[in-house]
Amino acid sequence: MIAYENLFELNKPFHDEFKTQFDNFLQNGWYIMGKMLSQFEQEFAAWNTSKQCIGVANGLDALTLSLKAFDFEPGSEVIVPSNTYIATILSILNNGLVPVLVEPDIQTYNIDHALIEQHITPKTKALMIVHLYGKCCDMDAVMAIKRKYNLVLIEDCAQAHGATYKGKKAGTFGEFSAFSFYPTKNLGALGDGGAVLTDDTGLAQKIAMLRNYGSQKKYYNEYVGANSRLDEVQAAFLSVKLRYLDEINAHKQKLAALYLENLKSDYILPVTDTDYNDVYHIFNVRHPKRNELKQYLFDNGIDTEIHYPVAPNQQQALKNIFANKQFPIAEEIHRTTLSLPCSRWHTQEQVSYVIEKLNAF
Ligand SMILES: *Cc1c(COP(=O)(O)O)cnc(C)c1O
Repeated sequence: MIAYENLFELNKPFHDEFKTQFDNFLQNGWYIMGKMLSQFEQEFAAWNTSKQCIGVANGLDALTLSLKAFDFEPGSEVIVPSNTYIATILSILNNGLVPVLVEPDIQTYNIDHALIEQHITPKTKALMIVHLYGKCCDMDAVMAIKRKYNLVLIEDCAQAHGATYKGKKAGTFGEFSAFSFYPTKNLGALGDGGAVLTDDTGLAQKIAMLRNYGSQKKYYNEYVGANSRLDEVQAAFLSVKLRYLDEINAHKQKLAALYLENLKSDYILPVTDTDYNDVYHIFNVRHPKRNELKQYLFDNGIDTEIHYPVAPNQQQALKNIFANKQFPIAEEIHRTTLSLPCSRWHTQEQVSYVIEKLNAF
C-alpha cells in the first residue's frame, strides 16, 4: 500500500539530529520561551526574508492573534476565501468578527480577486487570504485592493512555507502572515506549532505579548492575552528541519512535475505559471467521478485524501451563519478534488505507479 502520508517515514531521516537536539534541550533544562525558541524564531524569519517571527502554539492561534492585534470593532468584516480550511474562518469568528466568504478562482483554487471588491463594505477591515495547496495568490491584484481600500492584509501561509510570487516569499506581503507547523505541513513539528511573521516591530511586540497572557514583564498584564506559546522542544526540532525545508520542497516539486508531465488529459491539473513557485503542500487533481476514482486507487494499493470533503459553508458548525448564501465554485472543488501521494518520502517509482494507475482509470 502506498500511504498518502507516513509521519514516521517523513521524519526518519532527521531522527539522529532530533536526538542530539533533544539532548541539548534536556541539558538546558528550560522548557518554555528559552533560547531555542528565540533561535528558531530568528532562523525562520531570516529564511522567509521577514524581519520578525513570533512562535505560537499552532496555526489557528497564529491567525487568531494576528486579527486580535488590531482590536477591530465587533461586527467588523473580514474577507476570506470560501474554500479554505475551516481554521481561517474560525479565527475570524473567535474574534467576534464577520467572515465574508469570497469564491475562489476555479483554476488556481485561490481567492478570485476579481470578486473581492463587490464584497467590500464600510465595515470591511481586513483581507485574510490563503495560499492554498502551496500556491501563492495573485499578489499584484490583492495588494492593489489592499491599498485602494486601506485594508489590513493577513496571509494564511499554513500550506505555503517557501512558496513565492514573482520571486517574493509568501508571508512577506501583509501586515502579518500565519504559519502552521502541524506535523504534515511542509515544515512540520513533532506536535503542534505555529508562527506569526511581520516586518513591523510594534506589531511583533504586541503578538509576543498576546501569546503570553498579554504580558511583557512577568505578572504585569497589558492586554487580554492567551497562553499560546511555541514549546521550546518543538522549536528545537523545527530548527533541525528548517535546514532541510528547501530540500523537502524541491522533492515535492519533483514529484509534482512527474504528475504534471505524465497524467492524461482527463484530469484537471493544478495550473502552473512562471510567476509562481508552488511548493505543493497538496498535489490535487480534479475529476467528475472523484469518489469512484478514490476507491479505484485504493483497490490498487494507493491511498489518497480529499482536501476537503465538505465546504466550510456546509459544515455543521457554520451552516447557520451562511444559510442563505451559495458558493457553487467552492462546492464544485470540494466535490471533485483528490489529493495524490506527494510527500518527501515518496519515491519517483511510487509516483510513476500512481500515474500508471491513474492513466488506466
Ligand atoms: C493547517 C491549516 C491551518 C491550521 O493550522 P493548525 O496548526 O492545525 O492550527 C490553518 N489554515 C490552513 C489553510 C491550514 O491548512
